[in-house]
Amino acid sequence: MDLVFSAEELAFRDEVREFLRTHLPDDIRETTRRNPSYIDREMMVRWQKILYEQGWIAPAWPKEYGGTGWNLVQRYLFDEEYQAADCPRVSPFGLMMVGPVLYTFGTAAQKERYLPKILSSEHLWCQGYSERGSGSDLASLQTRAVPDGDDYVINGHKIWTSHAHHADMMFCLTRTNSEGKRQEGITFLLIPMDTPGITVRPIVSIDQNHYLNEVFFDDVRVPAENRIGEENKGWTYAKFLLGHERTGVAGVSKSKRKVERLHEVAAAESDGGRPLIEDASFARRLADIETRLTALEFTQLRLLARDRDGETSGGEPSMLKIRGSEIEQDLNEAAIEAIGYYAGPYPNEAPRPEANAPGIGPDHAEGKMAEHLLRRAATIYGGSNEIQRGIIAKMVLEL
Ligand SMILES: Cc1cc2nc3c(=O)[nH]c(=O)nc-3n(C[C@H](O)[C@H](O)[C@H](O)COP(=O)(O)OP(=O)(O)OC[C@H]3O[C@@H](n4cnc5c(N)ncnc54)[C@H](O)[C@@H]3O)c2cc1C
Repeated sequence: MDLVFSAEELAFRDEVREFLRTHLPDDIRETTRRNPSYIDREMMVRWQKILYEQGWIAPAWPKEYGGTGWNLVQRYLFDEEYQAADCPRVSPFGLMMVGPVLYTFGTAAQKERYLPKILSSEHLWCQGYSERGSGSDLASLQTRAVPDGDDYVINGHKIWTSHAHHADMMFCLTRTNSEGKRQEGITFLLIPMDTPGITVRPIVSIDQNHYLNEVFFDDVRVPAENRIGEENKGWTYAKFLLGHERTGVAGVSKSKRKVERLHEVAAAESDGGRPLIEDASFARRLADIETRLTALEFTQLRLLARDRDGETSGGEPSMLKIRGSEIEQDLNEAAIEAIGYYAGPYPNEAPRPEANAPGIGPDHAEGKMAEHLLRRAATIYGGSNEIQRGIIAKMVLEL
């Protein structure tokens, strides 16, 4: 992409680049380089605190709540530098999901209580939306919250709850009314994960890692002051949050970093005695992905500009989600095929910092299979791509 930046913007970019170069701890950089999806709580919090101290933990939040106040170009440049420096993904659930809900719909007391702890990483959050049988059809959720004095008493369960085992807090959709329209009986609650009656059980994913969980609620008591907005109006806040989630999952800068890596891999791997990058069909495949990624980048920038001007989004977050996840999967798949046999032995062990066995095969093979396997889910989480197509059909094409 050929953007012309002003001298101030270039100075800002240099400042970010230098900060990330000098402040990202080597062990975290190395772990992320090996496997962009692997991060443990200690590393995540250590890195987030460094960003927090610098005032850069929440680029998109308004300044009054602890955001950076950066304009769109600055946010774009930060994101580019962030990925290029192999910085780990920050935990999105507080910073990108419930944070914006809190400062948009929360009471003054809720903002004061939760926002600073999201910024400082004192609280890591998880997202309690999906249930068995209520994923795409989220409005059918059955986890009940029954008012009892000044509390709600919650019974039911959630599934696929990413990072619930690391989390201090969950934002949770609960059913408070079963009459009438399903969307009008949902309440958005904030639940401390150490509340008695909560059980977290691991789900090990196909890459042999533990990110996912089931969460069970057995007479879990939560004060009514932990409710966002009005009782039975939780669907409104849930949808607002999903818009933020989908914009984030476009992952343009991350995919651009993967493109760079794929060029390196294809230059290092050979096919028929020549570097793979010189193979016409592989080069064409790479060019096709890069072209689609550039188009996605422009679409994302257009959407950001429209958001800034206060224009409401229609189906764009869904477009970004579909394209972003497809491109990410294509890149992972191309990397696996480029590496060939040696992509196989790395489902799990090599990405972990504690693994000390020598690697089998080239360094650039590490973590690729784990990333490929985990990101097969990219077209499912955050609302499956089929559901996103349905949203576009309804909101954009008015079908
Ligand atoms: C790695 C991962 C992390 C996740 N993290 C979280 C999390 O932190 N918190 C959370 O709450 N949830 C999380 N989820 C759950 C995720 O949001 C759901 O998996 C997703 O919404 C799909 O729901 P489902 O799995 O119940 O599939 P289903 O809804 O049963 O769908 C099955 C298939 O049918 C298709 N389908 C369903 N309805 C339609 C329709 N109307 N039109 C066309 N096709 C349709 C779907 O596209 C899909 O292919 C995560 C999932 C994964 C895989």
